[in-house]
Amino acid sequence: MKNISKFKCFGIGNIHLRSEQQTVSDKILLTADRTLMSDYHHNEFIGFGTCAPPNVIPDWLYKFLFFPPIKTKDGIPIAAPYGLRKIEAQLLSEGFDVLTVDPDHIGKHINEAKVLGVQVMDPFGAGPASSTLAAVLKKEPFLAQYFRILMEKPEIKRAKKHGLKIIVGGSGVWQFRYRPKFVEEHGIDCIVDGEAEKVIGKLVRAALNNEELPKYYEVGVKEAPSLSEIPEIVAPSINGLIEIGRGCCRGCKFCSVTLRPLRWYPYEKILKEIEVNKKDGYANNACLHAEDVMLYGSKNTIPNDEKLLKLHELAVEKCDGVGWSHCSLATVAAKPKLFSEVGEIIKEKQPWWGAEIGIETGSPELAKKIMPAKAHPFKAEEWPEIVRTGMGLMHDNKLIPACTLIVGSPEETEQDLIKTIELMDDLKDVRSLIVPLFFVPMGRLKDEEWFKETQITELHQELLIKCLKHDFYWIDNLIDLSFAGKWYSRLIRPFYRLFVEIIRYKVKKAGIK
Ligand code: SF4
Repeated sequence: MKNISKFKCFGIGNIHLRSEQQTVSDKILLTADRTLMSDYHHNEFIGFGTCAPPNVIPDWLYKFLFFPPIKTKDGIPIAAPYGLRKIEAQLLSEGFDVLTVDPDHIGKHINEAKVLGVQVMDPFGAGPASSTLAAVLKKEPFLAQYFRILMEKPEIKRAKKHGLKIIVGGSGVWQFRYRPKFVEEHGIDCIVDGEAEKVIGKLVRAALNNEELPKYYEVGVKEAPSLSEIPEIVAPSINGLIEIGRGCCRGCKFCSVTLRPLRWYPYEKILKEIEVNKKDGYANNACLHAEDVMLYGSKNTIPNDEKLLKLHELAVEKCDGVGWSHCSLATVAAKPKLFSEVGEIIKEKQPWWGAEIGIETGSPELAKKIMPAKAHPFKAEEWPEIVRTGMGLMHDNKLIPACTLIVGSPEETEQDLIKTIELMDDLKDVRSLIVPLFFVPMGRLKDEEWFKETQITELHQELLIKCLKHDFYWIDNLIDLSFAGKWYSRLIRPFYRLFVEIIRYKVKKAGIK
């Protein structure tokens, strides 16, 4: 599939706007689909289940296990996705009347609203994880189904007829470029691509004034907010997730994050958001979010010992538990002592913690081509060794990584695949999940071809099977760790085990040993 954008990108100067702050009486509703408005039994790992299509167990049971509805009070969710909370805080700071609502209770509020803001992460299941699973199971992933269900709600359609404006934002908006028909049919007025703090108020004001909105608004690098322009959230975020910084300096070709400037939040800002999540008792833990948490406070790819340690001391003092969204193997391998010290601080309150990790390939040649700086401060040629060292350190220090491998990237050769397969052999004793993902054209590779299941070779198959076996080997241990110490563990754990057993049986039946 080629880039088939039919949308014209506008600058903010193309629409007539009032720039001064104003208080408006019209309500702005914010929401997200069911798969995003869940706290996944307080476990972010489980949220990955939303990428799968309907499968071996009934849909209602799958929903209960992987994305149960978040608790609500009068239709208002007790926590919401972090990105939505940031937009809520920004609009409130500009004087708008904003309400974040649960998707199943939107009908109660939509008649008062003039603008509906919707956050998306993977609206059509075109992201790497969901498109891979959809290609294998040949069905629409849950997260795409539920986005469609949200946009087809009769109450939204009715409100649309009465002039409701719909603005969509979030990390998955790039997918709308491939779905212009959906955009038209569902009356989406504006799609905002990028960090929206500096532009969302202007767009909402234009919507309230019935001015024409740009169909696709790409936030330029110059419009990226500085630290002081990023407001703190005012209500709890799902699973206590809070940003500690934005941007990444590694420049991997397949990634869009890389185009954003690197900024780290000061401690005070981070602690204030932890307080917001703790208030009213929603989350006494924090999931620190950055593209590489190990780089907190640094200006390059070398971790800053003092800042990283202090951040964790402060966070652990305030919370009952601390997790990470992402970190890199290179920073862990570069500073093993620091990594272990940070781990000790985290483990004062919990036995283990998790993070998402990009391995992507076991081939130094391919690493050099598609992610030349991922290995910094080491050389790209050393990538497989960095992976082995970093993963070993994670295993020893009880960080459980959920890792990704890219399958079918442009320029991938048989030799590259063989090296990745060999790397998988070396990682078999590392407690982890390793998920192969079909290449999706994003970042600087956005004009390349998608990888399709019809292009799978025997080597690809061998790699996929290795990953499957690796994950089957570790999954029971990971389920036990995920629910250890939780009061509902004995009730819910058997369902996950049953699910895994059914998948094992199906895989065996398909002749994969
Ligand atoms: S290290 Fe991660 S966030 Fe940074 S550019 Fe590479 S893939 Fe993107």
